[in-house]
Amino acid sequence: MSEGDALGTVYLVGSGPGDPDLLTVRAAELIESADVVLHDKLPGPEILGQIPEAKREDVGKRAGGEWTPQEYTNRRLVELAREGKSVVRLKGGDPFVFGRGGEEAEHLAAAGVPFEVVPGVTSAIAGPAVAGIPVTHRDHASSVSFVTGHEDPTKEESAVDWDALAATGGTIVVLMGVGKLPAYTAELRDAGLDGDTPVALVERATWPDMRVATGTLDTIVDVRDEAGIEPPAITVIGDVAATRDRVAEFLENDGDRGGDA
Ligand code: SAH
Repeated sequence: MSEGDALGTVYLVGSGPGDPDLLTVRAAELIESADVVLHDKLPGPEILGQIPEAKREDVGKRAGGEWTPQEYTNRRLVELAREGKSVVRLKGGDPFVFGRGGEEAEHLAAAGVPFEVVPGVTSAIAGPAVAGIPVTHRDHASSVSFVTGHEDPTKEESAVDWDALAATGGTIVVLMGVGKLPAYTAELRDAGLDGDTPVALVERATWPDMRVATGTLDTIVDVRDEAGIEPPAITVIGDVAATRDRVAEFLENDGDRGGDA
């Protein structure tokens, strides 16, 4: 860029959980007006399918299966902004909930690139909600914790204190928690949570093929295996998870969008 050229702005945009109707108005406008949209697979096929191929750049998993390094994405955002482009960095759910949006914001600030954060409807709350599960409930849960189920394997000690989470007595919502479900359900039982504690898995929440599977701390691993639940899915642990059974008959969210696994 030559002296005097205007820098483009980078928009760190949350797409919501996947249903295009759950994009914010701001997100939809920016996707429309952007020169380039950098995305991974998490916004889902419906939202990505609406963005013209010519302005999409996939910075998620590559054909070979490995992830695009975060450094590449950071560099690319700065490069495009320096070309004067209006850049949408589109992320599933909310950009600042387990989305590395914070790292990108810091990188942009360090590079002197102006950016805007566009919050999104996070799957951590919307996933349970569309399955009929309120993450808090006056009778059942006065707090909720959002946790990663996919710990950094280079860390020697667990980054998540499952004992402390069990002790809150509130709802535990696990993101990226399909693979390690056996490990953390065992941790929670060891920490004193009852084996009968209700657990729900919400797979591809709000996508056309959304599925929900329910069980207990003792049974949920078998439930997952029998239903073949795969990422992306949300795990909800706590008494609130049983709410689904009481409301499902009249819940229309998953009537036309999948249903029980
Ligand atoms: N920023 C995202 C979370 C990114 S971490 C958000 O706010 O929603 C990736 C994890 O998010 C997935 O492993 C899964 O646990 C969860 N996730 C994202 N979209 C989802 C969806 N539509 N249905 C279920 N889980 C989803």
